[in-house]
Amino acid sequence: IIQIHQLKKSFGANEVLQGIDLTVNKSEVVVIMGPSGSGKSTLLRCLNFLEEPSEGIIQIGDFQVTTGGKIDSKRKKAIRELRKRTGFVFQSFNLFPHKTAIQNVMEGPIVIHGAKKEEARKLGEALLIKVGLGDRCDYYPAQLSGGQQQRVAIARSLALNPMVMLYDEPTSALDPELVREVLQVIKDLAQEGMTMIIVTHEMSFAKDVADRVVFMDNGVIVEQGTSEEIFGNPKEERTKQFLSSVE
Ligand code: ATP
Ligand code: MG
Repeated sequence: IIQIHQLKKSFGANEVLQGIDLTVNKSEVVVIMGPSGSGKSTLLRCLNFLEEPSEGIIQIGDFQVTTGGKIDSKRKKAIRELRKRTGFVFQSFNLFPHKTAIQNVMEGPIVIHGAKKEEARKLGEALLIKVGLGDRCDYYPAQLSGGQQQRVAIARSLALNPMVMLYDEPTSALDPELVREVLQVIKDLAQEGMTMIIVTHEMSFAKDVADRVVFMDNGVIVEQGTSEEIFGNPKEERTKQFLSSVE
């Protein structure tokens, strides 16, 4: 469903992604781990064109976007289509502070899909129920805990019916007692067959939910495999070092 071919990204002279090849299949959950600065966030951001990749090809579903060079109208359109197909959940929840939970979730379908208000409200309610917040529809972000805000953010992404969900350390800004409720929602989505790429440092969660673990360092994929392979029997020295430093 997702194919990344020789994706590269430089900031000035600093080549942060040095040719990433990655395929993610439908309903697969891929967890990306690696040291700070290894390029994990940059990779996710490039997938959504929040960052413009320097080189490479990204294909999501039947949409392919080549990178580098001039942005003409054809490429702009492809980028818009790509964005519609990817849901992005950040470390910081990025909700609209002056909108209630349900208004936050309704916004995308109305603005991007041209949904009618009533239709969007129904969808929003269903999604907030799904993330366990059916009773918080009319609360403002400031009236919600961090974990609840992050679950609203997940519902908001789901409202656009993405083909893949991208999560960048979705729990790292949360107090420890709130982490579990957010991970549970992500796990439920995985069980329903949602395709996901998750950057996280939560090892036990990764072990639990990942179909595949990808270990990145210095802008390259060092190795990838099942969580048993990567956590139980890593092949590369760099992976071993990283795992022993976090455990
Ligand atoms: P962490 O685990 O700390 O979140 P990461 O693996 O997500 O790290 P990235 O945020 O992708 O790492 O950063 C990779 C490298 O790219 C870093 O050296 C960073 O300084 C650099 N970088 C990221 N964004 C920019 C930017 N907008 N401009 C310049 N350099 C950047
Ligand atoms: Mg990061």
